[in-house]
Amino acid sequence: MAPHGRSRSRRTIAAHSAGCRWQREQEVAGNNSVSMNQHVLVTGAAGFVGSHLCDFLLAQGARVTALDNLATGRLENIAHLAGSPGFHWVPGDVENRPLLGKLVEEADLVIHLAAAVGVDLILSRPVESLKTNLATTAAVLETAHAMQRCVFIASSSEVYGRSEALPYQENADIHLGPATTLRWGYACSKAMDELLAMAYARQYHLKVAVLRFFNVSGPRQSSLYGMVLPRFVRQALLGESLTVYGDGRQTRSFCHIADVVRAIYLLSQRDDVFGEIFNIGSEEEVTISALAHKVKQTTGSTSAIEYTPYPRDHSGDYEDFRRRRPDLRKISRLVNWKPERNLAILIHDMVAFEEGKQGKLVPAGPCG
Ligand code: NAD
Repeated sequence: MAPHGRSRSRRTIAAHSAGCRWQREQEVAGNNSVSMNQHVLVTGAAGFVGSHLCDFLLAQGARVTALDNLATGRLENIAHLAGSPGFHWVPGDVENRPLLGKLVEEADLVIHLAAAVGVDLILSRPVESLKTNLATTAAVLETAHAMQRCVFIASSSEVYGRSEALPYQENADIHLGPATTLRWGYACSKAMDELLAMAYARQYHLKVAVLRFFNVSGPRQSSLYGMVLPRFVRQALLGESLTVYGDGRQTRSFCHIADVVRAIYLLSQRDDVFGEIFNIGSEEEVTISALAHKVKQTTGSTSAIEYTPYPRDHSGDYEDFRRRRPDLRKISRLVNWKPERNLAILIHDMVAFEEGKQGKLVPAGPCG
């Protein structure tokens, strides 16, 4: 497949004639599973989602190159993988084009997770955060196009914005607030990433799919950047008050990281996902107030629960959503995926991890 209207270097032409190796080898083998011969580049690999994805892919026999600049990621998330056969750690920035070009060329598939994540981070460093989210995705898409590699782009349920059309369907309208309210920056940057990905799919037939994550949580997730569940777990274990913003009646649905990496893997096995967007999350809604109580119960903590006004950004206001719930019919139809771990298991695993039990995940139990 040749791109249109673009001059190509010799290296690029060679890459084009090789086609999309990841998909081609699957087709030839008639087997859609990640094999020992497949090589996946994971950007943001030392982060929360990335480190679990590396674990999962290596367990399937894939070779994994892990790229991260450690902006918010932590070496300790992937330290256990040092020396594992097939694992290659590359400290570096996605915006380093020569490095990115080399790594993409070596890989069969790119899973792009690197980003500035979390509302607190976006509000405290809006310029760097927005530039990171736009520039890294543009770099990955351009390079994947030049090398003709398949690529998955991480997006977020934040793109649904103020929409009240629940549960959220992938093709529904998005409804974002004004640019003067900085909290919309994250949603807008992810929405632009999605549009650019779809533009590459349409204009250049790039094999790219978008993964819209809804509140993913689990062991290793940092409490530093505004994620509510790791913060509650930490506050409860330290005997500090659990701070709930607003009236606590806003709901969220939290998906266990082990289910999320399985979803990414299942989608990566298919060749009919490209040019598409997929919700990945849990349908189990909980109010933030109930979540605080559940964390207290699981930890046996005597911490108080404190209700406090929303933090304010520099423009003087902040906006939150009452509900967030994914419609999972699309991914479920395609790869028969549903989360297998409920909220109780998720909280249990996070508490166990924080208590120093080395992040061992309990086996999936019945959801309830
Ligand atoms: P994370 O902060 O733990 O991981 C992001 C990683 O990207 C970090 O390790 C960071 O160091 C790295 N990074 C940032 N800029 C980089 C750059 N220029 N070059 C190289 N590495 C860079 O966050 P996460 O929760 O693992 O999120 C992963 C992806 O999933 C992100 O794209 C995020 O927007 C998306 N997402 C996550 C959630 C969630 O609930 N965790 C929800 C929606 C979307």
